[in-house]
Amino acid sequence: MQGLLSVVIPAYNEEQMIEKAAAVIGSVLQGADIPYELIFVDDGSSDSTWRRLSEAAQHGSHVRGVHFSRNFGKEAAIMAGLAQARGDCCVVIDCDLQHPPEKILEMYALWQQGYEVVEGQKSSRGTESAAHAWAAKWFYALISRATGFDMSSASDFKLLDRKAVNVLINMQERNAFFRALSSWIGFKTTSISFDVQEREAGESKWSTKALVKYAVSNISSFSTAPMQLITALGVVMLVISVVLGGIALVQKFMGQALEGFTTVILIQLFSSSIIMISLGIIGYYIARIYDEIKGRPRYIIADTCGEDPES
Ligand code: UDP
Ligand code: MG
Repeated sequence: MQGLLSVVIPAYNEEQMIEKAAAVIGSVLQGADIPYELIFVDDGSSDSTWRRLSEAAQHGSHVRGVHFSRNFGKEAAIMAGLAQARGDCCVVIDCDLQHPPEKILEMYALWQQGYEVVEGQKSSRGTESAAHAWAAKWFYALISRATGFDMSSASDFKLLDRKAVNVLINMQERNAFFRALSSWIGFKTTSISFDVQEREAGESKWSTKALVKYAVSNISSFSTAPMQLITALGVVMLVISVVLGGIALVQKFMGQALEGFTTVILIQLFSSSIIMISLGIIGYYIARIYDEIKGRPRYIIADTCGEDPES
């Protein structure tokens, strides 16, 4: 079956990459005679991404664009693209061509064989600093534990069948972590591996601060382990205090009461910092609940371009 393929491409300040990505991905799909549409989601770019995108949509009949009112993040952009897609299956791919477009053909062939989710797995992580690689390793170890899926080589490059797309776009979660949700939903899944390419132009949008925020937010959205950890810590401290208390009591009966002002202060400082950290963690989860119940939209679309979906 030659079903329609929607390619979802999140783009944030990618003015140099829009035309290039549309041309490269388009020619790969045309070459293989696959019916397709390209859906670029401009995630509130501050450069000329949107202008370039509107131009590309005017010239190429396969291109559609969505423009966010501000930057809502890559996850929101992916969700918006999936919501706009009309294909029988969708591929999500980065705008900077770090995900090799030829691999889409492999994914599509697997979809034709009946797979409903095709995960793209990084066989190498491309060039990045040692510190970044180290932090990524830790993050993926934690997130794999939290989700129960092996996420060590996971990426956002994947193909989803219409059924899987419908499930994802109907999820009410605001803090959706796309990479893990596509495993969480199940379905008949397989994977292909790819090498992360060099970025063609522009630069990575991830600052260290953004990465830390991303890690904390995604771990907490899949796991309550931090809460269990502080409970365990509380139990350990309780046991230690009971033991110490017992020793002190025995010593008192033996006529040698414990002295030590410094010890008291240190224990006091230690336990109050544990309490503060614990309150912080609980507060963080409450804030997440608050975020969810406010029920604000995940993204706001300011404009669209390309052919009208209804026409
Ligand atoms: N991106 C986005 N919104 C953001 C940040 C990034 O839509 O807030 C897009 C970006 O345009 C690119 C993809 O997500 O298509 C991956 O971003 P980037 O290349 O900066 O990440 P890296 O490859 O360094 O992990
Ligand atoms: Mg990139």
